[in-house]
Amino acid sequence: KTSTPWSIATPKEIRKILPPPHRFAHKGTMGHALLIAGSYGKTGAALLASRACLKSGVGLLTTHVPHSAVSILQTAIPEAMMSVDRSDLMFTEHPDLKQFQAIGIGPGLGTRVNTQRALRELLEADGEKRMVLDADALNILSADPELLRLLPTNAILTPHPKEFERLAGESDNEFLRLQKAIEFAGRHQVVLILKGAFTAVISPEGIVSFNPTGNPGMATAGSGDTLTGIILGLLASGIAPLDAARAAVYIHGLAGDLAARNGMRGLIASDIIDHLQEAFRDVS
Ligand code: AMP
Ligand code: MG
Repeated sequence: KTSTPWSIATPKEIRKILPPPHRFAHKGTMGHALLIAGSYGKTGAALLASRACLKSGVGLLTTHVPHSAVSILQTAIPEAMMSVDRSDLMFTEHPDLKQFQAIGIGPGLGTRVNTQRALRELLEADGEKRMVLDADALNILSADPELLRLLPTNAILTPHPKEFERLAGESDNEFLRLQKAIEFAGRHQVVLILKGAFTAVISPEGIVSFNPTGNPGMATAGSGDTLTGIILGLLASGIAPLDAARAAVYIHGLAGDLAARNGMRGLIASDIIDHLQEAFRDVS
């Protein structure tokens, strides 16, 4: 068996992925993202992912949330538009998908039956097929593996080790887990981001790119939600899925490293978001 092609992401490679804004750009040309996130008691996940998305250069963001989250988000993040679910508590119905260039789903969603059904309907719907799935969206896929067949080609999945274990089963060590992740990405034709220290971004063809940025201060609540927002922002602005995945992971880690100049202990997800602008500037 031939060995897996792998490399470590370099700033030069990431710079090439991130084009400088066009002089005549306007918000209509920078992409419109749809984020489906949050449930009662987990509105913060929707907020963190929304902020990170807007901080990643997208033109417009609509965040789909249950009723109970609307005034919280509108107050905390006035730049985002809202799509409001009929449910007060959770995601039960997706909006019309026509106007969006990319969809992100999962942070804080919960895994109740109505939400499971709504995710299935979203995956079965015609419409935008650039997609990032994280957190509870992945947990729903794990509980109902039939859904894996509905994933669009090049969908981006962002499991942390526990979520990957739910999706694909346990592995005895990290090498075997990586091997399993490569097989998974190939079988389902998705981009798999296996998160952790030295996050691996795996293409459907099985090419692995390890990410050198980031630090253990980022092992904190909401850290992954911000990554999902960044990926969604880059996808919606027109960057191809594998490139968007690699660049987002690199920038997320770099923003975490910039935030860690104040120390790793006490670093929170909002600090990563607060350093995104600097990270994008520094890499370009
Ligand atoms: P989540 O578990 O979904 O909140 O995601 C955690 C995020 O923080 C992922 O993007 C991880 O890659 C990152 N992270 C967690 N621990 C570390 C670490 N020790 N070194 C670098 N990045 C980390
Ligand atoms: Mg997470």
